[in-house]
Amino acid sequence: MRKLVLVAMLFCIAISSEAKRKHKNANSAGPQVSGNAASKSGPKPYDKVITGKAISKKGLFTVHKVDDKWYFEIPDSLFKREIMMTSRFSKTAGGGGVYAGEMENRQTVEWEKGPNKNVFLRVVTVISVADSTTDIYKAVNSSNLNPIAAAFEIKAYGKDSNSVVIDVTDFFKGDNAPVSLGAFTKKRFNLSSQINDRTYIDHISSFPINTEVRVVRTYTSTPSFMPNSGPVPFPSVTLPAAYSTGAVTFEMNNSFVLLPKVPMQKRLYDPRVGFFADEYSVYTDDQQKVDEETFIVRWRLEPKDADIAKWKRGELVEPKKPIVYYIDPATPKKWRPYLIQGVNDWQKAFERAGYKNAIMAKEWDEKDSSLSLEDARYSVLRYLPSDIANAYGPNVHDPRSGEIIESHIGWYHNVMKLVHDWYMIQAAAVDPKARKMEFDDELMGQLVRFVSSHEVGHTLGLRHNMGSSSRTPVEKLRDKAWVEAHGHTASIMDYARFNYVAQPEDHIGEKGLFPRIGEYDMWAIQWGYIKQVLRRTLKKTGRS
Ligand SMILES: [Zn+2]
Repeated sequence: MRKLVLVAMLFCIAISSEAKRKHKNANSAGPQVSGNAASKSGPKPYDKVITGKAISKKGLFTVHKVDDKWYFEIPDSLFKREIMMTSRFSKTAGGGGVYAGEMENRQTVEWEKGPNKNVFLRVVTVISVADSTTDIYKAVNSSNLNPIAAAFEIKAYGKDSNSVVIDVTDFFKGDNAPVSLGAFTKKRFNLSSQINDRTYIDHISSFPINTEVRVVRTYTSTPSFMPNSGPVPFPSVTLPAAYSTGAVTFEMNNSFVLLPKVPMQKRLYDPRVGFFADEYSVYTDDQQKVDEETFIVRWRLEPKDADIAKWKRGELVEPKKPIVYYIDPATPKKWRPYLIQGVNDWQKAFERAGYKNAIMAKEWDEKDSSLSLEDARYSVLRYLPSDIANAYGPNVHDPRSGEIIESHIGWYHNVMKLVHDWYMIQAAAVDPKARKMEFDDELMGQLVRFVSSHEVGHTLGLRHNMGSSSRTPVEKLRDKAWVEAHGHTASIMDYARFNYVAQPEDHIGEKGLFPRIGEYDMWAIQWGYIKQVLRRTLKKTGRS
């Protein structure tokens, strides 16, 4: 099959313009727009740079700390490989409505060897899977140059001459756009320049597929006495810390995660199935219009090699790598079992796609101090101390294929007020347990479980489905046997709330009042998570 030229449209162009804005900002903040390419002493022998004092950690990049300098040793095999970089808050200042664990920025980057013994960090704003034999490739390629976000002088070559050592201290300490706060966040919190003597690299850790950088950043902030001083819809607020000290401190975590060499096979989007999707414009020589290619975002679920035959026969098998969510250890203990149950409830949907134990939640091991909640290898349900009565389920995915790499669900403590009030108003007529200002833990736990399933559904790729409740015959809403068997809505991704049509004399139990993972959800997961080529086989086994 011919390869196509793909140009990233929505997501990547957004990054491109964001990067331009940030670059401008970094210029105005001082000279630290790049790594350390300014000094030109040239590479030295390895032992002169990585001395006997070095504390070293092997991983994606081998990290060396020598006195107060931090070095990355990058193997040649990683040059031109695409790396996902995500930046999260690991600690935030109070009063801004942003919480530890929330994402600040994400982008795809790659290392490149430049002229004059420099290493460049490029931000990939365009994805081209190109057949260089097409003519139009030349135009697409020339008109989508990726920006060089930073340059580093090679300090030394690795012992076997198949790696390079660069000094990343100034890059991470500096207010550099790819790893620092974005222009929008600075504007939102009324922050000015970074204060360098109150900004430092706390630590850098390295693991087989990722390297994690923890930086404490402090900014000047002149209090504004006009609340919400910025233009609508982006008002800026002065944080309480700025009123007392004129400074605001954040702790940021930058994760570098290696993306697979061969992207996951895409699943083309179908507008009849509600998945989140990415879109590209496709250019070829023989077309008479630009085509759009849209593909869904989903996790990479594959049977183990030894199980492929069984899976094709329709037997349930465990995936090579299950989807695992960890529960933030800041979560009150009594709600953890319900949050876990809300995740595990999706297992039966994945059974329709041929997998058992495909998804699960686990408690975080607090005793293991080497684990980090911001480590981009882990998906975490983050518990946020906020009066916002809501929750959200985002994901970080490979822009080349839609493969979901990780997800951090944002769970605001006060979402309990939302479900309390809904349930009291909508179900108290039929459920005596709802006639209380403070619900029993079991009832609140079941409400938490319902929201957990809904948010996890988003992180599996599912969008809202506001149409599914229309498929329920109105008279069945009061039919105890029917509604307890099928639920009052076919999708937990609907906004159907609770079954408030039910009346006391119907004697309908919780099963007929609560939304739950329904027929649509199971069908959608089956559609999204079975490879197309195998769907025909499964049809024959009667499981499609
Ligand atoms: Zn939702």
